[in-house]
Amino acid sequence: MVTVEVTAAAVEQRLSAGELSCPDCGGVLARWGWGRSRSLRGPGGVVVVRPRRARCRSCEATHILLPVLSLVRRADTAEVVGAGLELAAAGWGSRWIAERLGRPVTTVRGWLRCWSRRAGRAAAVFTSWLVALADDLAAVLPSPAGTAVADAVCAAAGFAFAARARLGMLKVPTWLLVSAACRGCLLAPGWPWGPARPRM
Ligand SMILES: [Zn+2]
Repeated sequence: MVTVEVTAAAVEQRLSAGELSCPDCGGVLARWGWGRSRSLRGPGGVVVVRPRRARCRSCEATHILLPVLSLVRRADTAEVVGAGLELAAAGWGSRWIAERLGRPVTTVRGWLRCWSRRAGRAAAVFTSWLVALADDLAAVLPSPAGTAVADAVCAAAGFAFAARARLGMLKVPTWLLVSAACRGCLLAPGWPWGPARPRM
């Protein structure tokens, strides 16, 4: 799974230019049809995405180019899930978060269970990415937030802050940057994968 820009036009342009590389071998990815359309629930309503399928010119593996706004195995966009995680970090319970975001409480509980199980590892990964990107560590390194869940959210937000500053992506929302960096796997099985660098 490779995470790419939100707009289809930008994806097509990068594929034509040979700018997208294979996550398995680093080879150049070329167009290879389309994946199945998916309806996601975004902050402003339903968003339909039809992911591009691409094939590596070197190892011939095929990959789905997942738009950054979607998360693997989740029906809500990264921004919606991220808003829920931020509210949980601020001490909100799942019932209140569900009400605020207009999502079923079982869905919100699913996000929070998954996030709390990986909070320590996620915090470590985002902090290491942040350290790699930041010019002035003292200005961006978050102080302890009180809970593992909140520490992990602060580390993700700190990483996004540093990435925006370093890469000049000042308008990209926090959870889209986070989603791009972890290739949509924020709440997917097996993530964090270890000390790998973010793939932006
Ligand atoms: Zn390859």
